Amino acid sequence: MSNEGKLILFSGPSGVGKDTLLDILFQKRPDFQKSISITTRERREGEVNGVDYYFITPDDFEAMLDNGEVLEFAKYGKNLYGTPKKPVDGWLAEGKTVILKIEVQGAEKIKKMYPDAVAIFVMPPSMEILEKRLRRRGTENEEDLVRRLTIARDEIKKSRDYDYIVINDSLEEAADEILTILNKES
Ligand code: 5GP
Repeated sequence: MSNEGKLILFSGPSGVGKDTLLDILFQKRPDFQKSISITTRERREGEVNGVDYYFITPDDFEAMLDNGEVLEFAKYGKNLYGTPKKPVDGWLAEGKTVILKIEVQGAEKIKKMYPDAVAIFVMPPSMEILEKRLRRRGTENEEDLVRRLTIARDEIKKSRDYDYIVINDSLEEAADEILTILNKES
């Protein structure tokens, strides 16, 4: 496979603001390509199938795994998330910068497959602020929210393996920092 493009791994705990940062980023760099993951998670209000994720059943997820259509996948909480392989291969062959929004286990797998991938971890200013943001978002029930905060603590420990850590205190500053990194790396 030709691999002229660049893979960017974009991780960070739930509620840290990854989607908002990516929205700003794609406005400034529409040439960047966002990979749309498959997931077995239920669609949240406002999410669009085929835009935010491909929302699929566990059976369909398994079928895609069996067919070798998934580049990497991981279990996060109770759900599976994975990166469809074919589009990513195609974009890389076209020389595009491809952004994967991905949790830490998946990022680790991709780094092994693509050592040139650039891994960026978005860090909350504190766990207290993360919890406040997640509660304000109001997309999870209490059980899911607590699970996400527990996963967040583990993810933050693994952030040391990333190439860059960006603290999302001010959105504009964090977005600028990420843009500077990507302008340099891609
Ligand atoms: P959420 O349910 O909040 O949309 O996503 C939960 C976690 O799954 C987030 O950390 C998100 O970055 C991650 N995620 C989304 N898509 C993928 C994927 O394709 N692969 C992996 N490994 N993680 C993903």
